[in-house]
Amino acid sequence: MTYQRILLKLSGEALMGQQQYGIDAERLMQYAAEIKTVADRGVQVAVVIGGGNIFRGVQAEHFGLDRVQGDYMGMLATVINSMALQSALEKMDVPTRLLSGLTIQRVCEPYIRRRAVRHLEKGRVVIFGAGIGSPYFTTDSAASLRAIEIEADVVLKGTRVNGIYTADPEKDSTATRYTEITFDEVISKNLNVMDMTAFTLCKENNLPIIVFDMNSQGNLERLIAGESLGTLVTMAPGTDAQRTSAAQLDAKHSGLQPLVGNQPEQA
Ligand code: UDP
Repeated sequence: MTYQRILLKLSGEALMGQQQYGIDAERLMQYAAEIKTVADRGVQVAVVIGGGNIFRGVQAEHFGLDRVQGDYMGMLATVINSMALQSALEKMDVPTRLLSGLTIQRVCEPYIRRRAVRHLEKGRVVIFGAGIGSPYFTTDSAASLRAIEIEADVVLKGTRVNGIYTADPEKDSTATRYTEITFDEVISKNLNVMDMTAFTLCKENNLPIIVFDMNSQGNLERLIAGESLGTLVTMAPGTDAQRTSAAQLDAKHSGLQPLVGNQPEQA
């Protein structure tokens, strides 16, 4: 397996499907099915899902509301999406845990790094809700930070575009896709991958990012199987975890419990 532990970032906006707002049930089920496929293969899956389909902090200012309040509203929106994804996964018999950056104890566990890692080792899909729990951040930053904390092999940023292009492919028909690019090139070419805080976290911690089209069925599985999809961002060509041998990855995550489906409920 190419990656043993992944952090999958899904945007809230993508969850809308063709709708203008909220959650499209079909899209939700599609995402859950894709996650199930790779989890069933023994890949440890952590997920961060955005809240843009419900509320973003910047919107608060347009309404004349307080920005910080808006950011907390955005974080709560991510919890709603996370709960929906959790439920969709559980309908498919995938064991899950939702860990939140804000304490909402009736519906989710508080985020505790060691707990998150333990859940992953037990084969549970871990969903991180409420971003990092602080205003003025995005769920991309939460994805980078949590990925570093749990020592994920890669951040897989699922978008509706198949990777990073020389220009916006939806506006410029001559735009071409990078299959691989370095962190420095992304910065020098001013390409839009993630917000700078999120991106810098990955760069400074040498955590590869793959930007790929999550809406095409089977893409997540193809990536895990080692197919070159989307765009891989690394320190320098050849330094990504994809090129790390399986033995090295085994050593990195040594001490893991065998990965089997449903396991006893204790943490
Ligand atoms: N947010 C925040 N801190 C975080 C994560 C999210 O304040 O750590 C708020 C912020 O207002 C953001 C909103 O939650 O706009 C929804 O997240 P995001 O915009 O990242 O969602 P996406 O664009 O991925 O749908």
